[in-house]
Amino acid sequence: MTTPDRATGGVAAGGAPSDGRDAGTGAAASDGRHAGVTPEAATAGVTTARVTAADVAVIGGGIIGLATAERLSAHGLSVVVIDERGPAGGVTGASGGLVRALDLSSAAHSWAAEGLDRYLRRGDHGRWPAVREDGSLTLFGADDTARAVEGVERVRATGHGAEILDAGEISRAFPGLAVPEGFTGVYEPRAGWLPARETAEAMLRDADSVTFLGGVRALEIVTAGSRVTGVRTTAGLVTTPAVLLAAGVHSTELARTAGVELPLRTRSVSFCVFAPRGRETGGAGAPGPLPAVLDSTTGGWLRRWDDGTAVLAGVPSPARDVPPAVTRGVPAAEEERVRAVARHRYPGLADADLVGGVTAYDALAPGDMGTVTAWPDPYGLVTATGWNGGGFKQAPAAGRYAAGLLREVLA
Ligand SMILES: Cc1cc2nc3c(=O)[nH]c(=O)nc-3n(C[C@H](O)[C@H](O)[C@H](O)COP(=O)(O)OP(=O)(O)OC[C@H]3O[C@@H](n4cnc5c(N)ncnc54)[C@H](O)[C@@H]3O)c2cc1C
Repeated sequence: MTTPDRATGGVAAGGAPSDGRDAGTGAAASDGRHAGVTPEAATAGVTTARVTAADVAVIGGGIIGLATAERLSAHGLSVVVIDERGPAGGVTGASGGLVRALDLSSAAHSWAAEGLDRYLRRGDHGRWPAVREDGSLTLFGADDTARAVEGVERVRATGHGAEILDAGEISRAFPGLAVPEGFTGVYEPRAGWLPARETAEAMLRDADSVTFLGGVRALEIVTAGSRVTGVRTTAGLVTTPAVLLAAGVHSTELARTAGVELPLRTRSVSFCVFAPRGRETGGAGAPGPLPAVLDSTTGGWLRRWDDGTAVLAGVPSPARDVPPAVTRGVPAAEEERVRAVARHRYPGLADADLVGGVTAYDALAPGDMGTVTAWPDPYGLVTATGWNGGGFKQAPAAGRYAAGLLREVLA
């Protein structure tokens, strides 16, 4: 195993929900400018022996790979993104898209804040989807007030707004929530959530010098001596001196083809979509104003459903080494597990109808840390993996950092 010469990253605390309607569809790239071979050709094992050359090959068209590709493109580099599905066809398409500056891990903190900055600016051209600024509320238990105070200071130090709310203030601002006496919340008014798939697709549209090979599987990172020379794919060889490996949990097997050990496991991440009773009439059960909530006492999270008629809720699962699949819906046991915890913060969920959900996973690295690493052997390989349920909020910062490492490789 080679050792990294640079690494950074951080824990993603409390993954959140997303748009269950789109989850797992795995649509291939459709934009003509980014079109590659069809998924059908790839699954049939057709290789066209096409040879493509690029400054950088990115394996994985999720939010991490696309955020990196967008930054590389902004520096005028030619990039080929290889994805066996399409843009956001993996975990990203299932993501809750919660964004905030406060991250409960100090290591990840600055990347979350930097990510929020960039999401609020809607990218370089103002064309990314707008952040749904419902606000972000991170709850702390009665014995944890000091952490809330520290959290506010840390958020403000990044230039974002934040204030402490006590239980009474939270109940008045958000009547649907139930917060025990003694709890405090760190409220960030200019935070909330984004539609994850649309955001990833917008990053791709901003990346003028990127060719997206949708429906193409990367098979091997090709090396000569101790340097990267290309990526062998189901559509032929991509010749390149620099590779970003951002294929989620599948990065382990691809890294091994280059002699790099990248131990990743799957961790179950899912959410339920609940429609509180009375929603059709706008009655008492309808969701009122609701920020994106992270409860640090349980790890549970909530946000409003896209059109405001329902609530997404998730509670971290202890399940590890689950199959790496993204599917619509949740098993009954998962629904009960989430409802049993989430109803304590949003009582309207106790008898709400389950109207959707998603069962998915994220890649978990040792130490729970998402990392971006430039490997000395083979030179030219950068990996960006292990986001553990929180990669979306960090993606713009992780992509900026990864692009910097790749540009150093090319310098
Ligand atoms: C239900 C759920 C809710 C979440 N909510 C939040 C949230 O609210 N906020 C937050 O910050 N984070 C959240 N997360 C986490 C976040 O979505 C992930 O950390 C992030 O999307 C991971 O992005 P990625 O690019 O690393 O992985 P992926 O999106 O999985 O991208 C990897 C890509 O690699 C491709 N691939 C794999 N193998 C190959 C191969 N051999 N050849 C070619 N392509 C390959 C796949 O098709 C895939 O598109 C959530 C996750 C889940 C599951």
